Amino acid sequence: MAADPIQHRLDESQALGLFSLDLHELGRRADAFRRRLHGNRAYYVVNRHIHYTNLCALKCKICTFGHAPGQAGVYERSVEQIAQDASAAADGGASQIHLTGGLHPSWRIERYEQMLRAIRQAAPGLHIKAFTACEIQHIAALSTLTIEAVLERLIEAGLGSLPGGGAEILDDSIRRELFPGKISSQEWLDVHRMAHLRGLPTNATMLYGHGERSEHRIRHLMLLRQLQDETGGFEAFVPLAFISPPDGRFPPGPWGVDDLRVIAASRLVLDNFPHIKAFWAMQSLAVSSVALHFGADDIHAAIASYDIVARPGQPSQALSQPQLVAAIRAAGFEPCRCDGTYSTPRAATAHK
Ligand code: SF4
Repeated sequence: MAADPIQHRLDESQALGLFSLDLHELGRRADAFRRRLHGNRAYYVVNRHIHYTNLCALKCKICTFGHAPGQAGVYERSVEQIAQDASAAADGGASQIHLTGGLHPSWRIERYEQMLRAIRQAAPGLHIKAFTACEIQHIAALSTLTIEAVLERLIEAGLGSLPGGGAEILDDSIRRELFPGKISSQEWLDVHRMAHLRGLPTNATMLYGHGERSEHRIRHLMLLRQLQDETGGFEAFVPLAFISPPDGRFPPGPWGVDDLRVIAASRLVLDNFPHIKAFWAMQSLAVSSVALHFGADDIHAAIASYDIVARPGQPSQALSQPQLVAAIRAAGFEPCRCDGTYSTPRAATAHK
């Protein structure tokens, strides 16, 4: 039987035991913990993703987004196009821009600074979340700069926070197999440590359901908890459900019960993380709304289009603010809108 995390911090073997606990009991414990931190509130943001390129220097085995140079369908968005998108997002009621892209084979830091400054100018009030730890390391290598220098220049240009992407599973043997060439577990953690030390908040993700074991998941959570003890710089943990490509190379991906187990276990193990996010674009809105009863306090975002993860027959995903708010209310929670960070939550009133 796992210890009660409200009273005791779970050690690695107790944390592992969560994956064999009765689902309802696991959910009850995670829900109690979540309600102690956040009561009946469920957070979300109105976000606009801007995908600046799908060109990528790597070829991760699970990826359906990254394109090699010369491949059909490659795009690179200009700084002017990005500024126009940001301006349109602000006019449409967004409060956050999330810049996403592949590891561009030749862009150096100046290009990313230009993007950030153009967004700042076009939409001064928007929070800018951008660049995974992998991108930060890639930009540093191409620009012959240190990670620290890259972070400081991007902050100066307007970067507001780092997303948690690129963590995948913090296990180097799985990383080498599925994500060849991607930064190591330690390098991912080091980038986030350096960001936190510069006052830049970050999220952390975990990609699950691609064949990893419970031991890998718990080790991943332990590494995050350890870094959070050291820096306190993580805002949210975002478990990402693997969506299996339709070519049969991978297991079918997690079903709803496993999603709920991962979210509940994360809430209980990551006792020093303020927020656990259910990411509807990967877990589905139905599962994410149930996840609010299993430890999640955040249901991600109303988004105009999200292309990083495609479902078969559904290359882009979108969800309006009224749809998101309705899902939160139907689950029995109070919708609470945030503006990029969680510092200024407010009740959902604007329904653009
Ligand atoms: S997962 Fe990211 S780094 Fe890997 S190929 Fe896709 S876009 Fe590139």
